[in-house]
Amino acid sequence: MSCVKLQDDGRSAAGAPGSDTNAFAAMQPRMPEPTPPERRNGARVKAADQRPEGVYLPNNNLLAPHMRSPEYVQLSTAAAMTLGIMPGRMHRCECTRCLNLLLTYPEGCRANCAYCGLARHREAERDYADRNFIRVDWPAVPIGQIIDIVARDGAASPFHRMCISMITHPRSDADTVAVLRAWTARIDPAAIPVSILSNPTTMSRADVVLLKDLGADIFTVALDAATPEIFDRTRGKGVQSPHKWEKYWEILLAARDVFGPKKFGAHIIIGMGETEFEALELVQRLVDLGGHSHMFCFFPEKGSLMDHLPATPRDQWRRVQLARYLIDYAGVRVAQMRFDERGRVVDFGLPEAEVERVVREGIAFRTSGCPGKFRDDVSACDRPYGDSPPSDIASFPFQPNGHDLRKIRKQLRIPVVSGGDA
Ligand code: SF4
Repeated sequence: MSCVKLQDDGRSAAGAPGSDTNAFAAMQPRMPEPTPPERRNGARVKAADQRPEGVYLPNNNLLAPHMRSPEYVQLSTAAAMTLGIMPGRMHRCECTRCLNLLLTYPEGCRANCAYCGLARHREAERDYADRNFIRVDWPAVPIGQIIDIVARDGAASPFHRMCISMITHPRSDADTVAVLRAWTARIDPAAIPVSILSNPTTMSRADVVLLKDLGADIFTVALDAATPEIFDRTRGKGVQSPHKWEKYWEILLAARDVFGPKKFGAHIIIGMGETEFEALELVQRLVDLGGHSHMFCFFPEKGSLMDHLPATPRDQWRRVQLARYLIDYAGVRVAQMRFDERGRVVDFGLPEAEVERVVREGIAFRTSGCPGKFRDDVSACDRPYGDSPPSDIASFPFQPNGHDLRKIRKQLRIPVVSGGDA
């Protein structure tokens, strides 16, 4: 079998500039600082007790403790622009196809995940409604206003999917149900299917069943970390956060039973210290269970406990992105691939012409997530610039063009083909 073999130019590991992989030893989060009592649990917002006034744009500095779910949700900047709630345009994107909603509370998320802009330790410096998350602002909007717009647009709605993202909060389970009920009362979930991005820490199997019964289509679990060690270090005991790997898997396996094949999945962040082999073994495990993986490229989120660490080198990211696509959609197994002594992919396990075809098609390098209405391997959830700046795109929120593919080939270190579109 003739296979594509990646060149090794001998660059060092350890996440330093010029590295081609973010190694475990280099990706240690900072410890959270203690929060002054007067800033804990949204105390500053609760003390001001102002009334919410419709749409809240981050840094409006209106301290409104009643701006909370289920009456309010936050939504991504891309979704707010697509709905016409916020002005502006996204670089090279006409709109987003996924309406990403995030539950919101003055107390914020009570977990402390090291890579996340919403983490609890940030209450020392920013009120919850003003925190950045996956590189962008999330305005807070009454859920009724969002549903009114989507219902008014009817079949002309640009959205292929809606997603409710839970956070770690005592009200999160009940409010997810309330938001889902409010949505399905006005919007046919067959027309715009609903995904749940769950918070397993507060959930039981009965919660998973209830969400399915109420019309949710896909259930995902943000494992985020590819190994138990990285999970514990970035979102468990290592950063005074409540999450446990075993609990996440308990709910993931419940989702497999309740939602069924192709209707459950897990988020994985690449570049937090796992090897490429470890990440792809997890991808294979999810496929073998009947699910999918949704991948994010680690980016040092401003204000997070990992904001001093390097973003995932593009070589590492592109190798994993391509290999994951081959496992998820092309029937390749991780056992067919070959890895070097540092766990890096050196052979994708397919004839060169087939790898070429997948690279040229470009879909492998688009944002991964729950599908929309175009095709199964094209995610509705495009998260524009959620894991990279527009100047150095990690997950393409649109179809990469010839220029993009030439850059991707260089990052993969696959020779650039002259004369073609790639
Ligand atoms: S549970 Fe989710 S929202 Fe909360 S800190 Fe962790 S990653 Fe961020």
